[in-house]
Amino acid sequence: MTWVRKSRAALRRELQSHPKLTTFGSGWISGVVGLLLGIGSLGLVLVLRFPGVFGTEELKVFREAGSFRGVVFGLMVIAYLSSLLSLVLRDKKLLGGFGLALTLLASIFGGSRATAVMPDLTPVSFGLDFFVLRMIFTGLLFIPLESWFPKKADQPLFRTEWREDLFYFLVSSMLVQIITWLSFGPARALFDVTSGWAAFRAWVSGLPFALQVVAIMFLTDLVQYWLHRAFHRVPILWRFHAVHHSAKAMDWMAGARMHFLEILALRGTTVLPMIMLGFAQEAVNTYVFIVYLWATFAHSNIGWGFGWLDRFFVTPKFHHWHHGIEKEAIDVNFAIHFPWLDRLFGTHHMPKDRWPEGYGISGHPVPNGYWKQWCYPFKRK
Ligand SMILES: [Zn+2]
Ligand SMILES: [Zn+2]
Repeated sequence: MTWVRKSRAALRRELQSHPKLTTFGSGWISGVVGLLLGIGSLGLVLVLRFPGVFGTEELKVFREAGSFRGVVFGLMVIAYLSSLLSLVLRDKKLLGGFGLALTLLASIFGGSRATAVMPDLTPVSFGLDFFVLRMIFTGLLFIPLESWFPKKADQPLFRTEWREDLFYFLVSSMLVQIITWLSFGPARALFDVTSGWAAFRAWVSGLPFALQVVAIMFLTDLVQYWLHRAFHRVPILWRFHAVHHSAKAMDWMAGARMHFLEILALRGTTVLPMIMLGFAQEAVNTYVFIVYLWATFAHSNIGWGFGWLDRFFVTPKFHHWHHGIEKEAIDVNFAIHFPWLDRLFGTHHMPKDRWPEGYGISGHPVPNGYWKQWCYPFKRK
């Protein structure tokens, strides 16, 4: 299968082209849009064909409403047009060619009219639709912001180690059902054995919605702060958390890099106050959405200065210092929402006019690649 390897390598080279070859009008942007949406369309058509295997349970209502097919149709049209535009504009036809071929394949499989070919046999499924929609939504939000207001202006979209981080995105989306089930498990069990708290929980869930969301943010950040600090200070935990810190570049995808077992530990612990205290489901859902956007923002390559707001809310600069490679950045800035928790507990670090020089762990002890990083915490030194 050398031709597969060769064309993959050629495609990678095209994606990682020198910035001079990716300017507006070069056919690179349309080629990338065509390729990514071609892959996305094909993924969503697969979901329509095999909803029991690739469809996220939570998105079932959306999938069965007409709008999902509308989204698939829209993506395919954009993928076709972008790929064609790239074929016209660009000397190298690789991006446009692949984009067109993948979108054609999606059409052959039934396109937006594809129907299920298999009954839903198992209660478990992969979140392929969640992955595609999450990538498109987050990418649409952050790629323009990062290119208009970059911290590192010379950092390309397909920067160093982008494939690793994309794979982390893929795994955490595909396994979303299993991750959610496992991480809510301890909280559910504790909830059931504390039925005596029912009156208190009813009072909490009756509080104004905004107050509940702010209370969840505060409580989870407090729990997250100490857990995060433990992940830095306890040697065995650090071996897991080192994977997150091994990222050598910061952007909207970098935050996805996290060891699978750390994801379970972190979510399993931070959902405890939300579930145990009985917050309303809508408040919990809203918080999950906020923390996802906020954590993505904190890692992003956005160079905004927020002035006095920096003192109250976590910004990219604050979390970038947490990832800094220099000595002064070791074990600082653990909060994910409120930096004053770090002030309170003596771990705050925010030099006025400086950002970190580089990112990662000194000496880069963590190997590259998802599976090597999976095994890294279990290896002897
Ligand atoms: Zn950390
Ligand atoms: Zn981080």
